[in-house]
Amino acid sequence: MKIILLGPPGAGKGTQAALLVEKYSIPQISTGDMLRTAVQAQSPMGIEAKKHMDAGGLVPDSVVVGIVRERLQNDDCQKGFILDGFPRTRPQADSLKQVLKELGQELDSVISLQVDIDALVERLTGRRTCVDCGKGFHLRFDPPAQDGTCRFCGGELSQRDDDREETIRNRMKVYQQQTAPLEDYYREEGLLVTVDGMGEILKVHRAIIEALQDC
Ligand code: ADP
Ligand code: ADP
Ligand code: ZN
Repeated sequence: MKIILLGPPGAGKGTQAALLVEKYSIPQISTGDMLRTAVQAQSPMGIEAKKHMDAGGLVPDSVVVGIVRERLQNDDCQKGFILDGFPRTRPQADSLKQVLKELGQELDSVISLQVDIDALVERLTGRRTCVDCGKGFHLRFDPPAQDGTCRFCGGELSQRDDDREETIRNRMKVYQQQTAPLEDYYREEGLLVTVDGMGEILKVHRAIIEALQDC
């Protein structure tokens, strides 16, 4: 199963990707997670990426495509993968097409999660992540343990720097301008499936599974 999860910031891509990892035993490829790891390691790429991420803009295509190209060559991607947060621009989508062609692989489906803007902002401002195991939570919709620690490992939770209201506004604008056009791109390829992302987490999960059964 080779899938792209498309959707604005806060749509639930990371949450749904984690559930699909369990269901299909294929890896999640999150460019956001990989970039944040590089930022933490303070590698030259991380230092460059951080400037764009803090402003809510996009990291240059060449950087992101390089990361994904390398990742897709790993053995664990042969049976399938879930791309979460990539591609985000038309040049990235073109590069992905090229990389997959070189690897002799084809996408099965592009799932586009549909969520209202008000819900997106509420999801992003309440989002928290475990600093130890990386699991994502929401203060209201997917709460951590009662004492505010991670429900899975007891780790401390943190809020992402870019989940502040003014940065969120910019990320939404960037999504509309640069990423939303990919819906048409993949519709023309016959790969796009839109899924209602407004319900509860498990309801959205079931809708995605159903959509994948038809492809
Ligand atoms: P994305 O990766 O698309 O930015 P996330 O998966 O990180 O989005 O979800 C954003 C926030 O919303 C997280 O705090 C997550 O727990 C929460 N969330 C995800 N899906 C839902 C849902 N269906 N209903 C309510 N909250 C959700
Ligand atoms: P979200 O799911 O909330 O939109 P991500 O974790 O996917 O956030 O991405 C966080 C930030 O990392 C983005 O705002 C952007 O700066 C950078 N980023 C992630 N993926 C890409 C990509 N494919 N192209 C360019 N920048 C990216
Ligand atoms: Zn944890």
